[in-house]
Amino acid sequence: MITREQINELAQFEDRNGCALTFYLQPTTPRNKAHKEETILTKDLAREALRQLESKAASSDAKTKNGTGKGKIESAREDIDRIVRLSQDMRGNGVHAKAVFACSAQGFWREYDLPAQLSGTQLMVNRHFKLKPLAQMLGAFPSLAVVLLDRHRARLFDLRLGELNEVEGFFHPLSRRGRGDGFMGYDGGHAERRVDDEVLHHFKFVADFVKQALEKRSFEKWILGCQDMLWSQFEPLLHPDASQRLLGRFSSEVAHASREGVRSHAERIFSERQQKRRTEAVREAISQSRSNNRGVTGLRRVLRSLEMGEIQTLMVGENFVGQAVECTGCGHLDAHLVSSCPICGRDTREIVDVAEAILPWAILRDIELFYVKDDPELDGVGNIAALLRFRAEQSNVRSISQRSDRSLGRQEGRVGRYRGAAASGARYRTS
Ligand SMILES: [Zn+2]
Repeated sequence: MITREQINELAQFEDRNGCALTFYLQPTTPRNKAHKEETILTKDLAREALRQLESKAASSDAKTKNGTGKGKIESAREDIDRIVRLSQDMRGNGVHAKAVFACSAQGFWREYDLPAQLSGTQLMVNRHFKLKPLAQMLGAFPSLAVVLLDRHRARLFDLRLGELNEVEGFFHPLSRRGRGDGFMGYDGGHAERRVDDEVLHHFKFVADFVKQALEKRSFEKWILGCQDMLWSQFEPLLHPDASQRLLGRFSSEVAHASREGVRSHAERIFSERQQKRRTEAVREAISQSRSNNRGVTGLRRVLRSLEMGEIQTLMVGENFVGQAVECTGCGHLDAHLVSSCPICGRDTREIVDVAEAILPWAILRDIELFYVKDDPELDGVGNIAALLRFRAEQSNVRSISQRSDRSLGRQEGRVGRYRGAAASGARYRTS
């Protein structure tokens, strides 16, 4: 499974000759024949990608008249052949999808398994890797912990990209006396108090454990499974940060809870929360934008806020299509299709898919990202909107923006600049 550092590495990658290859394989049904179908589809996609590359190379040769275009695509040709061989070698089992990012000219080849929930099999060759399918996947499957708790036991599960693993278990047995020794209730009250102390101690231990795990970023959000009657005792012991990152809870016992049960409860709670947050964020961005406050809508304003480092949460219509140009010098993105850069004056080139072009930036700058499906309100404001951390133009907070730019290791605040050399370690979060 893919880590945040690995995603950052992909977001930073660029091949100036346009030979960065992205391959997503979504397995078909686990029938025997399926594997064959996948290989046939991959071969078709490979042929099509090669055809496009060759026509691009030919037109660049016609322009430059030096015949270098053909040579430049050799690297992509090698990678495409390798992808076809890979699809032949793979045993289609329908369990995992696969993503491959490759550029043999730069000695780059990364393969990742993903949950088999991609929208389809794709093969692209371009200057950057195509990250939207990955970003959608990560938004749908953040890293979550599920804690099951009873009076003397706790179990911790890690839920990442659709896979649930049990990572920790605690058992604090109640003392013998605590279990109700004593003569006909003579010691009853005393023993009960003692049990209460022991349970409280156990709850504190678990609450501390959760707090520390969140601090270490072992996971980003968590979900609790426990009996309703225990919640009122456990809740006051939670650290504020842990309370805030608790997505929800379900009623569960601990010892015999099945993995499937835990997973389906957690996924249900997460997707309900996600849906709610997404809807709220869209409404909030639109209303903030109307009052000229901490929200912007429409491609032009969103691009501007991106470059200013203002964006906290970005919402993009799932089928958003937008055009822009990118400066070949400073990387500035402009929604006006100008031929020279308004910042530095150099030539621009056209970007066909802006939603894809801004992704590396969103990933490296730790911007929360939502893909929004069929939202008429968002559609009405251009199908793209953002919630801002601040508005640089309205106050003296510009210095904050500059500070965060420096912390990424660059002085320049332009989008494209970050693609090549942003410092890694930024968090990717789409929960
Ligand atoms: Zn420029």
